[in-house]
Amino acid sequence: MIVASLRWRTVSDACLFCSIVAGDLPASVVAGDDAAIAFLDINPLTTGHTLVVPRRHVTDLLDADGAVAEVSPLLESTGRLLVDRLGADGINVFQASRAPAGQTVFHLHFHLLPRWSGDGMLNVHSIRTQVREDRDTTFARLTG
Ligand SMILES: [Zn+2]
Repeated sequence: MIVASLRWRTVSDACLFCSIVAGDLPASVVAGDDAAIAFLDINPLTTGHTLVVPRRHVTDLLDADGAVAEVSPLLESTGRLLVDRLGADGINVFQASRAPAGQTVFHLHFHLLPRWSGDGMLNVHSIRTQVREDRDTTFARLTG
């Protein structure tokens, strides 16, 4: 038990988002509840670009241990906040797990990107595909 406690302390001390949750680093926190906080991204991609992170340290979606469900209420209410207060026409939710997917801070976080009609930003359906096998093969590998 002591080892687990020390390990947690080591992980959280080194984590940028744990430091923000603890109040040891400044952040523009726009919302929060018992399980998560939402704060403005320091390098916004769109006006109101917000990160929603669990208060407890988990590294990513593959290590979430239920944290995704815990942050869901704040994810939803922050999305509504961004639309209501900023007049956004829509929201993208983006989450990167592990470095090959683009994760740079290894504490689970969801990007909320307010979008406006005709803003010219990325549309997921316009991304060049990176499909490595046919759908039937993929289906068999996932369900076989
Ligand atoms: Zn952390």
